[in-house]
Amino acid sequence: DGLSKTRRQINDTSGALGQDVREVFTKRLDSIEDLEYALISADVGRAATDEIIEDMRKTEGGNLQDALMRALTLQLEPNARRAEFRKLGFAPDVNRSKVEPRGHVVMVIGVNGVGKTTTIAKLGQYYMRQGKSVMFAAGDTFRAAAGTQLGVWGDRLGIPVIQGSDGGDPAAVAFDGASARKARGTDLLFIDTAGRLHNKHNLMEELKKVCRVVEKADPGEPAETWLVLDAVTGQNGLQQAKKFHEATPLTGVIVTKLDGTAKGGILVPIVRELGVPIKFIGVGERADDLQPFDSQDFVRALFD
Ligand code: GDP
Repeated sequence: DGLSKTRRQINDTSGALGQDVREVFTKRLDSIEDLEYALISADVGRAATDEIIEDMRKTEGGNLQDALMRALTLQLEPNARRAEFRKLGFAPDVNRSKVEPRGHVVMVIGVNGVGKTTTIAKLGQYYMRQGKSVMFAAGDTFRAAAGTQLGVWGDRLGIPVIQGSDGGDPAAVAFDGASARKARGTDLLFIDTAGRLHNKHNLMEELKKVCRVVEKADPGEPAETWLVLDAVTGQNGLQQAKKFHEATPLTGVIVTKLDGTAKGGILVPIVRELGVPIKFIGVGERADDLQPFDSQDFVRALFD
């Protein structure tokens, strides 16, 4: 079924985190250093690793694997909740296997190559399967072929795509998209945005402008801004993400290409440093290679 598939896929991807950590436990936890090494190699990061080890030291006589799983799950909670739950000494029991966007318009941002356009196609398919009507706006007018690529996905999935002209004004496409969505009463509009970085200041100004025109076309929107991050770029991607977050406050993150990295632990510093929840993970190139993110499922899959 869908869930075991997720597990299988996550297992392939986060192999190193799973493998190293598992090995430490099968050999018994005779050394905190081994665990520390396993977590750091999986890109969990220094601060989170220290907290995990501190949480584990508090476990006396209990099952160490359970304690590690709980400590890791906590690290995937947004900061305020994590602090609260750590104080109480337990991991939350939440099920996020359904991700409902607030409002109607989701702006999707991220640098070129992270999988932004593909992710928009995947989101379209995901929400159509939930029974929602969906539209796309091809606002990445700077990358040649981004509009065509989204158009091809739209044709394949039966999702209307509002197009602009190559090199045209991305904000104009976003405005047209938001107006069309409102007029047609479509449930969800996903706006693709420019992702080139050679002129960082302009890019950030452009994104702010897109936000402003969407708000003008349809007050209260965009209600969500989701950043797409490539797991393979790890710590680098995280630095970029912070810049985006400063320009246009994020409401969620989607981590792609988890099928192509052994460093699944990167999800921990993403949550910790951005303070924004992970909404979905991308585990392949096909339209259905997208999974709603559930911290407990994710951690469980690492130990399966
Ligand atoms: P954009 O420039 O950010 O819009 O990136 P694209 O959507 O064009 O994707 C860049 C490449 O990454 C394409 O070859 C995609 O098929 C691939 N890609 C996107 N998401 C994933 C994923 O989750 N896993 C893998 N393995 N490849 C992905």
